[in-house]
Amino acid sequence: MICYKLCIFISLVVVGYSNPMGPRDGPRTNKEDETMAEVTGPLNEEKFCDFPDVAEYRVYNTKWNKLDLTYRIVNYTSKWSNANVDSGIAKAVQWWSDVTPLKFTRIFSGTADIMIGFVKGDHGDGNRFKENTLTLAHASKPNHIPYSFLHFNEERVSDFSEDWETFVTVAAHEFGHNLGLAHSHDNNAVMFDAIGESKACLNSDDIRGIQSLYGANPDKTLLPKC
Ligand code: ZN
Repeated sequence: MICYKLCIFISLVVVGYSNPMGPRDGPRTNKEDETMAEVTGPLNEEKFCDFPDVAEYRVYNTKWNKLDLTYRIVNYTSKWSNANVDSGIAKAVQWWSDVTPLKFTRIFSGTADIMIGFVKGDHGDGNRFKENTLTLAHASKPNHIPYSFLHFNEERVSDFSEDWETFVTVAAHEFGHNLGLAHSHDNNAVMFDAIGESKACLNSDDIRGIQSLYGANPDKTLLPKC
């Protein structure tokens, strides 16, 4: 089993932000989500009965106010083929568009809604990838100024370049942040904050989460396949 930290999350709110996620030694807590300050639960806290709240997903307090989004792959890694990156990103995007009305268009120049790249160390967004960090990637929220972004840690590419599905899983996780999802407490969700194993698709918790923000895909009803 592999277990890598998927990301840290860029917060505009927490001034002097530092990575709140230390090594996973003890039991998992909600601490990191609470540190982000903007996470809200999926359901109103007010309870109408004692039926257990089974939702594990979490959402941020911002989402896109449009359904047609663009993305751009700004650069590639030196450690893997461009074709694998292109197809992995396309697949990750499709996981989310399959179950929502969201549509993604890749553009090749100019500023996209979501700018994707491979970076290392201090790369100008105020959240450098530390040396020897386990963090594979990080992403911004929707509507980040001047644009939302998804950054893969170039120094960790070898951790997932052996396995295309792992890359897709990491990319889909980060896109989840770009779309407004925080970390889920469901350890089978793509939006869980560490990879236990690569996924073949979103799980039901991920789907409930994204559909709470954007609704279901009106063209088809897709059920979780894994
Ligand atoms: Zn994450």
